[in-house]
This record gives sequence, structure tokens and C-alpha cells, in this order.
Amino acid sequence: MFALAPKRPYLSLMTTVQDTISLIGNTPLVRLAGPSEAAGCDIFGKCEFANPGASVKDRAALGIIRDAEARGELKPGGTVVEGTAGNTGIGIALVANARGYNTIIVMPDNQSKEKMDTLRALGAQLVTVPPTKFADPNHFVHTSRRMAEETEGAVWANQFDNVANRRAHIETTAPEIWEQMEHEVDGFTCAVGTGGTLAGVGLGLKAFSEDITIALTDPHGAALYEYYAHGELKSEGSSVAEGIGQGRITANLEDAPVDTQFRISDEEGLEWVRRLLKEEGLCLGLSSGINVAGAVRLGQELTAKLGRPARVATILCDTGFRYLSTLYNGEWLRSKGLPVPPWLED
Ligand code: PMP
Repeated sequence: MFALAPKRPYLSLMTTVQDTISLIGNTPLVRLAGPSEAAGCDIFGKCEFANPGASVKDRAALGIIRDAEARGELKPGGTVVEGTAGNTGIGIALVANARGYNTIIVMPDNQSKEKMDTLRALGAQLVTVPPTKFADPNHFVHTSRRMAEETEGAVWANQFDNVANRRAHIETTAPEIWEQMEHEVDGFTCAVGTGGTLAGVGLGLKAFSEDITIALTDPHGAALYEYYAHGELKSEGSSVAEGIGQGRITANLEDAPVDTQFRISDEEGLEWVRRLLKEEGLCLGLSSGINVAGAVRLGQELTAKLGRPARVATILCDTGFRYLSTLYNGEWLRSKGLPVPPWLED
């Protein structure tokens, strides 16, 4: 075996924190047995579903709100407005509740019902709009900016182009991975929604060691694979994965240290979602499965290049409980032409 459970446990998991905000981050890192075996090396998953809002976006939400407070833009009793596929909204609603702010969330209406129900349950004002192209003035991002401008005492979180998003990953996710892997990291990869995670972890890890390979894992239908491979923003196909799939270079992606790139199909990502569920007891969303597929590719390539089993990390972005009506529903899977696993046949 390639062994390598951490030599010392991650002690911060055993401490008491003084407020609920401090529960964000310091997530566990788990060695994934199936992916490690498939890649012939060690693949680690950062358990971002363990954040209070059950996704990686809690970190960005907290970073953005802290930044708006520090700049004096967000005042007591103010409102945070954001356009989101859902997870950022959930993170913002939780942090805003803990800090005494209101939340307005604009979301495309093709995202999972669970995310919409969750946002309403948390007390956010939810506005849904039809899914459109970014160039359309009614796109959820532009609608959220207008609503922020029209609301007294409101700030626009602007997760795509507000670099407080990636700074949260430079300052927290990257050093956590570096410590948890005992300073022995060969590669990192993940998919992109805003790019905050890929660019932030990439920049943060490169600051520890220039030798760490940073890879983009792109779903079908996104334009970044072609951009990093051939310098052209061009997309092909489509994906049902929520929260990932970008068509432009956001401010968070500028100067992202991307060394190599992979394109992963929904079928391949789903295969890993199902294997991780049935073999390792992890219930995850599709972006996590796509990330793991990318990590397996990166692990194989780095292992061949280095001549020893590589050590690669990726992000387990959110909980599968957020997709019970979609990824974990036989009828929905059939309607999308995706394979239905035996336990979801009815
Ligand atoms: N996976 C899921 C489920 C998400 O909601 C997001 C955020 N949109 C991502 C991955 C991508 O993260 P980032 O915005 O940092 O690129």
C-alpha cells in the first residue's frame, strides 16, 4: 500500500471554538481508498461538506462578508445580496444571520429544489430567475447587482469578481492542505465555478512550493479547458453539475497558476460519486465526483513523471443530501439520459 495516513492527527478538530463563525474551515482531509488504488498513488479529499453550510462556499461567504465589514461598506443591520447557484447563498445566509445582516439571494430556477428550500428555511429572501447566458441583462449575476444597488444599506457580494473569495482559500484552504499533508504535496486539482477555490488554493500552495502541480478539472460545457490548453475560451457539450462550469476569466481566475488541465464527463464524475458512496460511505454532489476523476488523472500523470506514488489533493465540495431530488433520484437521472444505479431503480 502507499500508506500515508497523517503521522499526527489534525489537532484543531479537537478544540473548542468561541463562536459559530469559527466553525467554518479546518475541515478534515481524508485519504480516498478507491481513487488512490485507481491512480496508483495517494489521493486526498478535503471534506468541505463538513462546513456548517455543507459546502466549500462557506469560506468564500465569510471572506467576502469580513472584507465588506473591514472596508466599512457593510454596517450593522445591513443586507448582503448575491447571485449564486445556491451554495454561496447558503453560506452567506448563515454568516449574515450570525452577524445580524439580511440576505437577498438571486438564483437560476434550474438549480436543485433542496438548495432553494434550504435558502428559504435559513430566512434568506429568495428571488429566482430563468437560466440565461451571462450576456443577458436578466442573468442572475446582473439581477443581483441591480438589486443590491436598489436596496438601502446593501452590499453586492459579487463572488465571481470579488477577490476576497480567493483570498479566503489562499489564507485558509491552502495552508490547511499543506499542514494536513505534512508538507508533502505533489498536486492539486478542482473544477471552477467562480475560480476562487482553484486560484486561491493554487496560489496558496505555490507559495509553499513552486513544485506543486496545479490542474484544472473542467466539466463538459465549460470554456476553461480550451482556454488553458489552447488560449481560447471555447466550450463543447454540457453538464448537469451544479456550481461549476465557467465561460469567462473571472477576476478570481486572473493569474491562476494552472499547469495542466483535464476535461471530465458527467458519467465519469457520477461513477466516482457512486463508488465513493457505496465503497467509502461518502454522500457527495457531482462536482466532487468530477474533482475526484480529475485527481485520479493527475495522480496517474504525476506518479509516472515522478517515478514514485504521487500525493494529490482535491475538494469534496458539497453534500449529496443537497441533490436527493436529482442525482439520487432514478426518474430524474433517466430524464437526463444518465445511468441509474441498481439501488435507485424503482
Ligand atoms: N462545487 C459546488 C457544488 C459549488 O457550489 C461550487 C461553487 N459555485 C464549486 C464547486 C466551485 O467553487 P468555486 O466557486 O470556488 O470555483
